[in-house]
Formats: sequence, structure tokens, C-alpha cells
Amino acid sequence: MWATNKIDVHHHPAPANYTAAMKRTSGIWPVASSWTVDKSLEDMHLGGVTTAILSVPGTPDPALAREWNEHMARLRKDHPSRFGTFAALPARDIDASLREIEYAFGQLEADGIGLMTNCGDKWLGDPHYAPVLNELDRRRAVVFVHPAVADCCKPFVTNESYFQPTELPADTTRAITRIMFSGAARRYPNIRFIFAHGGGTVPFVLERLARMPTRSPEVAAAVPDGVEHELRRFYYELAQASHPGALAALTRMVPASRLLFGTDYPFRTSDEHARAIEGYGFDAADLKWIARDTAVELIPRLAHAVGSR
Ligand SMILES: [Zn+2]
Repeated sequence: MWATNKIDVHHHPAPANYTAAMKRTSGIWPVASSWTVDKSLEDMHLGGVTTAILSVPGTPDPALAREWNEHMARLRKDHPSRFGTFAALPARDIDASLREIEYAFGQLEADGIGLMTNCGDKWLGDPHYAPVLNELDRRRAVVFVHPAVADCCKPFVTNESYFQPTELPADTTRAITRIMFSGAARRYPNIRFIFAHGGGTVPFVLERLARMPTRSPEVAAAVPDGVEHELRRFYYELAQASHPGALAALTRMVPASRLLFGTDYPFRTSDEHARAIEGYGFDAADLKWIARDTAVELIPRLAHAVGSR
């Protein structure tokens, strides 16, 4: 296999209190309800992953976010070189989110923060998020952005719906668009945003996005160096975006030094992503960026775990 010491930046644990909460709200896939830490470690072994950065979807409930963050922190403490954490925030509640940021970095030694693309009817970049983004910018935080179904789409996008594969990448595109065109990307330049799933549909709709500054003075002011320039400042992980067509579009948008290995485990596996990325035809240097170098640049403590092979 092309690298045996990869870092998976998109890996979901599903502790019991998570599956119980999901059953109450949006439902849960059977594969997640049978998760154990040993299954995570087995998947990592099969795909040559040394370290997986854990994240769970955000929740409106501050107490539940705290429980999940403490659970992930315990996994990291039990397996310090095998796991890292992106702490979840209850993003509808800004004061609780600010408290959770303080706790996650101060007490739990989180490697970054996990945010969802929306908190119901507001997408990242909306003024609602300003205090949170301001604090994350001050801390120069790594922020992993994962899609969620927005309120507007919940009537027709369920876990069983065949619209889910279209809606989740679309919501990532909405969040990236909002962050760029609201001016948030430039207002908070120290946040290192990682977008899930290869940036949703952004690489494919880039032509339309790049024309927006010509249609709106407000958008033009938000991206004075152009859309492509802003997109090259972000990072993108490759879970569920390792198809040759997706990789072709994404690699025309950003260099490999902005790409990270990711799996979306337990919904997908590290082995299948490793094979797909290896089969695409990247050169050795680019594969090294994707496997670990980009992740180590963002989270330097991981250098100790994965070395420089
Ligand atoms: Zn995921």
C-alpha cells in the first residue's frame, strides 16, 4: 500500500450516548450503532492509518456536546498516538459554544473544532457565528466542517432518502459559498478550514462561483483576490470524494498540499479510500502530502506519531 502511516482526518466514533441521541432525532445507520473502538482500530490497521482524528456531528444540546467531547478525549488519552479529536460545538447556542471551545482546548487538548455546515437555517459565515469564528481565529484553530441536512431540506432528505448523496455535498457548497461571499474567510484569516468530502460540489461548480464577483459589488468586495484565490486557502479531505472524476476536478482547483486523507468511517473504510487514491495516479510527493504531510502541517503533534517515512 502507498503509505502505511496515514492520518485519517474524518473518522466518526459512535459511543452509546451518541447512537441513543441520533435514534431520538435523525435516525442512525446500523453500521454506526454497532461501532466499537476495536472496530475503528481494525479499520485503521487494514488501511494503513496510524492516527484517526475523531469527530461527531454537532448537537443543539450543550450537555450532549460536552459528553461526546469528553468521550473522544478519553479515547485519545487511552490511545494518544492513534487518535486525535475535533471537538463538537452546540452551534445554535453561541455562549455555550464559546464555553465549549475554552473547555475543549483548555481541558481536553482538542486538536481542533468540528463544526457543521449549518445550524438549522443559518450557514457558517452567517453573522450568528461571528463570536465563535472570532474566537477560533484568535486561537488559529483548525476547523473541520462537516455537512448536515439544513432545516429547509429535512422534509425530503432522510437517512433512507436517495437525495442524501446529493444534499450533503450541496450543503458543504452552501457553507463554503457563505464563508467566502460573506467576507468571513478574509475576516478570520487565521482559521484553517478543512472541508469534508472534497469540498462538496465546489470543484464542479467553480465556473459559476468564479463569476459571482462580476454580478455583485458586495461579493466582489468580499473576495478581492478572486474566488479561486480564496478556495486555495482552504483544505479539503477526500472521504467519499476519491472517485477519479472528483479528484480530477479537485486537483485542478488546489495543490495536493491542501488535500488530506479521510474516510468517513464507519460509513466507509480506510482501505477502499487508500486503494482509490493510490489508483488515481498521484506522484509520490503528492501522495505523501495527502497521507500525512498536510495533516502534520495543521496538527504538528502528529509528526511524532507518523514520522517522516
Ligand atoms: Zn462524516
